[in-house]
Amino acid sequence: MSRTSIDYDADVIVVGAGPAGATTAYHLARTGLDVLLLEKTAFPREKVCGDGLTPRAVKQLVKMGIDTSTEAGWLRNHGLRIYGGGMRLELPWPDLAEFPSYGLVRKRTDFDEVLARQAEKAGVRLHERTAVTGPVHDERTGRIIGVTVKPAKAHDPKAGKAAAKAQPDDAAEARPDEITYRAPLVIAADGNSSRLSVAVGLRRREDRPMGVAVRTYFTSPRHDDDWLESWLELWDGKPGQSNLLPGYGWVFGMGDGTSNVGLGLLNTSTGFQNADYRALLKAWLSGMPEEWGFVDDHQVGPVRGAALPMGFNRQPHYARGLMLVGDAGGMVNPFNGEGIAYAMESGELAADIVAQALARPAGSSRERVLASYPRALKDRYGGYYTLGRLFVKAIGNPQIMKLATRHGLPHPVLMRFTIKLLANLTDPRGGDAMDRVINAMCKVTPAA
Ligand SMILES: Cc1cc2nc3c(=O)[nH]c(=O)nc-3n(C[C@H](O)[C@H](O)[C@H](O)COP(=O)(O)OP(=O)(O)OC[C@H]3O[C@@H](n4cnc5c(N)ncnc54)[C@H](O)[C@@H]3O)c2cc1C
Repeated sequence: MSRTSIDYDADVIVVGAGPAGATTAYHLARTGLDVLLLEKTAFPREKVCGDGLTPRAVKQLVKMGIDTSTEAGWLRNHGLRIYGGGMRLELPWPDLAEFPSYGLVRKRTDFDEVLARQAEKAGVRLHERTAVTGPVHDERTGRIIGVTVKPAKAHDPKAGKAAAKAQPDDAAEARPDEITYRAPLVIAADGNSSRLSVAVGLRRREDRPMGVAVRTYFTSPRHDDDWLESWLELWDGKPGQSNLLPGYGWVFGMGDGTSNVGLGLLNTSTGFQNADYRALLKAWLSGMPEEWGFVDDHQVGPVRGAALPMGFNRQPHYARGLMLVGDAGGMVNPFNGEGIAYAMESGELAADIVAQALARPAGSSRERVLASYPRALKDRYGGYYTLGRLFVKAIGNPQIMKLATRHGLPHPVLMRFTIKLLANLTDPRGGDAMDRVINAMCKVTPAA
C-alpha cells in the first residue's frame, strides 16, 4: 500500500467488532489490506438481541467461510411460525437460488465472537477493550485520518494481549491517557448510537422509523423448536378490547435448554413513547400455556432492551474519510426488525468499494470510488426501505393492524407473498411471479 507523508498505522481502521465491523474487517483483510479492528468490550460479551438469523444472514456466514452445521453449535430453522387472528401458520423460508433455505439461531455472546475470530484468522488485527474516543482530522483538509482510543490499562490483569501490544503512534491530538491510530479510511461500525458518527456531525434522522425491543431468556421445553415463532397481536390493554400495537413478540428456541423471548414496537404508534416494555412482555406471556415455562421461576437473566435504527436513519453513509456500516448507518429492515444480515451485507459492500478505492492514489480519483458507496446502498435497499417506511406508518394505525392480522392471515398465497416481502427474500433473476412483483415494486419506489 502506498503511503503518503502521514505515517499510517493501518490501511483501514474499523471501529466496533459487532457483525458489521467483523464482516467489513474480514472482507477487507481478504483483499490483502492491513486492517485494525477496535472493540471497546472483550469477547465473549453479551449483546441484547433476538439471536435469530434469516437465510440472508446465513448467506453472509457462508461467504465468510463459517461452518453453519449443527455440529458447530448452530440451531437450524425451517421458517416462520406466525400466531395471530386466532390462527397458527407455518411458512417455510422460500426456496430460492439466491439464498439458502434455512435460518439459524445462535446466542450473540457466541455469534459475535465467532465472526470476530474469523476476521482475525483472515489477518485482521483485533484490539479488544479498546474504546474509540473520537475522530482525528487532517488539519488542512478536515478529512478523518484516524481515531483516538482509550486502550485497556497496561496493569489491568484482564487486559487482552492485543490491547497490551498496542503501540502509540503520535499522541499530539490525544489526551494524556489516549493514543492515536491513523489510517486513510475509518469505518464506523459502532452500532446504533455511533458516537463516532455523531462526533463528525452525522446525527440520527428523526423522519425515519425507530423500533425498541426487549428480550430475556427462559428455560423451556420448547428450547429446540426448529421454527422462528412470531406473535402478531400485542395489545396495549385487555386483549381484544384495546388497541393492537405495531410490532410483534417472538419466541426463538436456542437449543441449549432456553428460549429467547422478546418483543419489539415501532415508533409509529401513539402509545410508543410511554410504553412499559416489561409490563407488555409480562402481559403477553401470561396468555401462554404454563408448561412452556415462560414464567418468573424459569426466567434466566434480566429483561434487557435496545433501539432498532431503521431505513437509513443516519446519512450520508460516506463523507470525508468516514464510512458507516450496519446499525451505525441505520440499516435495520423496517419490515421485520432484522439487523444482522444488513450489518453483514453493508460490511461486505463497503469492503469491496474500499479495496477498489485504496488501490487508487489518494485524491479525487479515490474519493470518487468511496462516494459510490451511499449510491450503491440506495440502489440495493433504497426502494425496499421506502416501502418499509410506508408499511411501518400504516401499521401504526391500530385499525390497519387489525385488518391485516384478521384478514391477511387466512390467505395462504398472500402469506407466502408476505414472508418474501417482510424478510426481503426473493430471487433477483428468474424468480417466481411473487419475486417479480416485489422486485418491481422496490425498483419503481424511490430511494431516500
Ligand atoms: C432486543 C433486540 C432484538 C434483536 N433481534 C434481532 C434478531 O433476532 N435478528 C437480527 O438480525 N437482528 C436483531 N436485532 C438487531 C441487531 O441486534 C442489530 O441490527 C445488529 O447487532 C447490528 O450490528 P452492528 O455490528 O451494526 O452493531 P452492534 O452489534 O451494536 O455492534 C457494535 C459494536 O461496536 C462496539 N463499540 C461501540 N462503541 C465503540 C467505541 N467507541 N469503540 C470501540 N467499539 C465500540 C460495541 O461494543 C459493539 O461490539 C435485535 C435488536 C434488539 C435491540
